[in-house]
Amino acid sequence: ITSVEATQAHLDRIAAVDGKVNAFLHVSAEEALATAHDVDKRRTAGEELHPLAGVPIAVKDVVVTKGLPTTAGSKILEGWVPPYDATLVERIKAAGLPILGKTNMDEFAMGSSTEHSAYGDTHNPWDLDRIPGGSGGGSAAAVAAFEAPLAIGTDTGGSIRQPGAVTGTVGVKPTYGSVSRYGLIAMASSLDQAGPVTRTVLDSALLHELIGGHDPRDSTSIPEALPSFADAARLGATGDLTGVKVGVVTELQGEGYQAGVLARFQESLTLLEKAGAELVEVSCPHFPYALDAYYLIMPAEASSNLAKFDGMRFGLRVEPTEGPVTAERVMAATRGQGFGDEVKRRVILGTYALSAGYYDAYYGSAQKVRTLIQRDFDAAFAQVDVLVSPTAPTTAFKLGEKLDDPLAMYLNDVATIPANLAGVPGISVPNGLSDDGLPVGFQILAPAKADDRLYRVGAALE
Ligand code: GLN
Repeated sequence: ITSVEATQAHLDRIAAVDGKVNAFLHVSAEEALATAHDVDKRRTAGEELHPLAGVPIAVKDVVVTKGLPTTAGSKILEGWVPPYDATLVERIKAAGLPILGKTNMDEFAMGSSTEHSAYGDTHNPWDLDRIPGGSGGGSAAAVAAFEAPLAIGTDTGGSIRQPGAVTGTVGVKPTYGSVSRYGLIAMASSLDQAGPVTRTVLDSALLHELIGGHDPRDSTSIPEALPSFADAARLGATGDLTGVKVGVVTELQGEGYQAGVLARFQESLTLLEKAGAELVEVSCPHFPYALDAYYLIMPAEASSNLAKFDGMRFGLRVEPTEGPVTAERVMAATRGQGFGDEVKRRVILGTYALSAGYYDAYYGSAQKVRTLIQRDFDAAFAQVDVLVSPTAPTTAFKLGEKLDDPLAMYLNDVATIPANLAGVPGISVPNGLSDDGLPVGFQILAPAKADDRLYRVGAALE
């Protein structure tokens, strides 16, 4: 099969189903086909190409793409066309992967259901009345609906792994610093990581290798090379996990988790044991405080990152209808109209947490909790090679069900957030269907820079 055939087949699929799924905000058919033609020509000429060359890919709309509109799911960036590519996009282009388009997401990646997009909901292909997870619901739905074989997501608190879980796809949050953040529209800079969304563990490993590696344009980029992810996935696919110590996190199961989710989780633990892994129960006593710390640190950083959307530099500009047109009033009018409710809620939370009188009590305490969670991980990884848990407490809920209850929405991230606070990598792999017939995710976490372990254990479960 040629790249043109593969790309055209996916464009046809998008044309056929995206009216219902709404995974894409922008489809770049012409550009994708041009890349595909070029790759086919290079292949015919005998050029040695990357293993993923010619395989089409979808990119979450929070990643900047030269010449393709990039909105981050927000009205405030409507019509903005970036003049440059994110580093990961440069690498995707250099390897010859046709970019099918940009995928829908919660505005500025804030949400767990993609219902906070300014451009309409994305629907879960398993049941169109249900959420595809968030914030990267568009990327996950596109892969689950066979509109794209590969996609890019970003994960600040679970936005790759939780959509992966509820759509039955593989999603990886790499070690913080292993994939460049240059060209990601920042949500919370100390937590953000881009990563793969795919249908198989090996695909994720190959894509992670392609987009990862040192980038001098990201000051937090890890300079050294990490072990091969694809080799680890191939090793895991043999089904032998002899000598691998797996820690089951006490705090990430039980109350609040759907019975069918826990049942599938237990079955996978049995499979790991059969593959030769040793299971140990591990307690991470500070994980129950992770959500609280995250909802102070993340809004604090986001409130600072979003200050640049002021009606002067990017996208939308709204002038007040009456009274003087001062910079401050243009800013207020633009932000008032350009930001959705969830973004406003978090900017207010963040500026409050950072304000002079409350900084120590809120932001300072949250940072201390963050350190305690990092220590929980250190203690756990002194005993075991990987930690495991269900990825999300429930299967996909109905669209609209939690929209008016931000706290209920936030609770979806209990199991995914600790990894972001500690900078460690995590993967969600499909874990069968719950009793309601909807997909469940199995999460594997590893120490920083040991992402290869995710791929080994993940592939053994496939
Ligand atoms: N659902 C989480 C939030 O709303 C995670 C977001 C993310 O990872 N981008 O903050």
